[in-house]
Amino acid sequence: MNLDNKTIVITGAARGLGLAIAEWLAKRGTNLVLIDLDTPELYQAEQTCIAQGAQALALAADVTSETEVANAVSRATDEFGSLHGLVNNAGILRDGLLVKARDGEVTDRLSLEQWQAVIDVNLTGVFLCGREVAASMIASGSQGVIINMSSLARTGNFGQSSYSATKAGVAALTMTWAKELARFGIRCAGVAPGVIETDMTLAMKSAARAKLTSAIPLQRMGRPDEIASAVGFIFANDYFNGRILELDGGLTF
Ligand code: NAP
Repeated sequence: MNLDNKTIVITGAARGLGLAIAEWLAKRGTNLVLIDLDTPELYQAEQTCIAQGAQALALAADVTSETEVANAVSRATDEFGSLHGLVNNAGILRDGLLVKARDGEVTDRLSLEQWQAVIDVNLTGVFLCGREVAASMIASGSQGVIINMSSLARTGNFGQSSYSATKAGVAALTMTWAKELARFGIRCAGVAPGVIETDMTLAMKSAARAKLTSAIPLQRMGRPDEIASAVGFIFANDYFNGRILELDGGLTF
């Protein structure tokens, strides 16, 4: 797909990878719909994209809310006529061990609230945004591309029951949608980053960051612009479908 003058929706676009993807696309003449929670950073992101010459529209919406997602996608479709892309990027971490124990005594359990919060954003949010944008694309005949943000953690990772489960679920949704939506000319693919320098990873303790970095064969974390260019590759390559592009510097968990 040629990106020029196309309209792409990005969730979690106020900062981190979502913002890096928005800036990368803004520089290439793409119109952008930026969805995130209602924070000043969302409107700053809109101004950043406009300053780079793009048409950009910030829409505050919680991706876990069916009504807010439906309203945002409907507003974006009205504003731009049709949608050609979705980057399903909003995601959260609420890490914790399934069960903690000392000397054979169970001291803690992963709470249902912690589990559910991650399922709601990372899995239900991806489902709702994918469903609404796919319906808009089919109705307008725009033959677009849906890109879901999975993770290296999708194969399972210590302390990440909920996060790993959602990212595996996102990979499964990607293949399912690639099969279901191809008949409408819509492709669906995913990106599985390893450890990338964003607020999500900068929040780690420095000793933990150093240990993690030393396990990466390339001996550094990825940069957000490297994920953005991978997203750009998927948009551009019309034969990339139903697959997850792994971008992790060679790290395995
Ligand atoms: P980030 O810096 O934490 O940014 C995530 C964005 O999503 C934030 O702006 C956040 O808003 C927003 N968000 C959270 N809950 C939302 C909701 N319910 N509705 C709408 N927006 C919501 O994360 P990131 O590092 O850029 O990660 C982006 C994606 O890549 C995530 O799916 C993540 O799992 C995935 N990923 C990241 C890495 C990495 O190393 N960074 C690796 C693998 C995969 P608030 O700030 O207001 O909460």
